[in-house]
Amino acid sequence: ASKAEGQNRLHRFEPALLLMRRLRSQLVDDLRAAIKDDALTLHYQPVVELSTGRIEGVEALVRWNHPTRGFIMPDEFIPLAEEAGLISELGLWVLRTAVGQLRAWIDASLVDSRFSVRINISATDLQSLQFIEDVRNTLQETGVKPEQVVLELTEVAIVKGNELDRYSLGGLRGLGVGIEIDDFGTGYSSISYLRRLPVDRVKVDRSLITGLETDPSQPALVAAVLQLVRACGLEAVWEGVETAEQAEILRALGCSSAQGYYFSRPVPPDQIPELLADQQESANP
Ligand code: C2E
Ligand code: MG
Ligand code: MG
Ligand code: MG
Repeated sequence: ASKAEGQNRLHRFEPALLLMRRLRSQLVDDLRAAIKDDALTLHYQPVVELSTGRIEGVEALVRWNHPTRGFIMPDEFIPLAEEAGLISELGLWVLRTAVGQLRAWIDASLVDSRFSVRINISATDLQSLQFIEDVRNTLQETGVKPEQVVLELTEVAIVKGNELDRYSLGGLRGLGVGIEIDDFGTGYSSISYLRRLPVDRVKVDRSLITGLETDPSQPALVAAVLQLVRACGLEAVWEGVETAEQAEILRALGCSSAQGYYFSRPVPPDQIPELLADQQESANP
């Protein structure tokens, strides 16, 4: 009886499971095609120098323009790409597209040599020696200076990793590109990591900005984190700034750079020239 019951149960659930599996594998096929057919696109969000309003650089953020579902955000399809073994292809596409875009902005004299593009890389990219080669080749082909490329890695990716990753991190840094720890303060933040890892900068997670203008203890926390980061010889970028008040508090506390909807949402590349023009007016009145 129990065997029959088990088979029944199987029968009842099989169609739903199959459907889910079919949808998922359809999405994976779509994603594979999207990477090949350039249906992915990068949006760019300014990183701003707080004391002047100058745009120091932009972060490249991938979007998937799906034929029937519209824009799909990375939090939804990056994990899928990881599972389906597509993340290396995706990572290479992002790298080439973002550095190629920077080359175009340099050629159009829109940005100078201080301007950088920040690229999010996955734990898989970090574990791949091929990725170091890809970065080297992309820099060579485009002639972009390595200092103008910053790779953003989450703490989780770094801490989960092994000695090889730390070796890769060293290899990447050896190329002269900048390395930034993303979402700092959400993972396994440890002071010893900050001191040991070959990184230049940390990007503090937006959870540290939340409530900055209402919670009286929050500014002291920001000041403490800033001091900690600087004591480790690093610089901090503050992400998730949504209001003028938050930007002003950060500036008053001595923070140098920030990013968030208050300055600009991530935008398609054709809107960057206008943002750069506005910024020049306010930086040199
Ligand atoms: P992240 O690297 O920490 O990027 C910051 C995220 O916060 C972006 O979400 C951005 O649109 C959003 N954001 C920026 N300013 C504000 C703000 O003021 N308020 C709020 N609430 N949010 C803000 P997005 O574009 O959805 O990206 C999510 C995550 O997906 C990224 O987090 C990054 O981890 C990952 N990701 C994005 N692009 C790529 C990529 O090309 N490759 C890889 N491997 N991961 C990517
Ligand atoms: Mg990032
Ligand atoms: Mg982040
Ligand atoms: Mg994030």
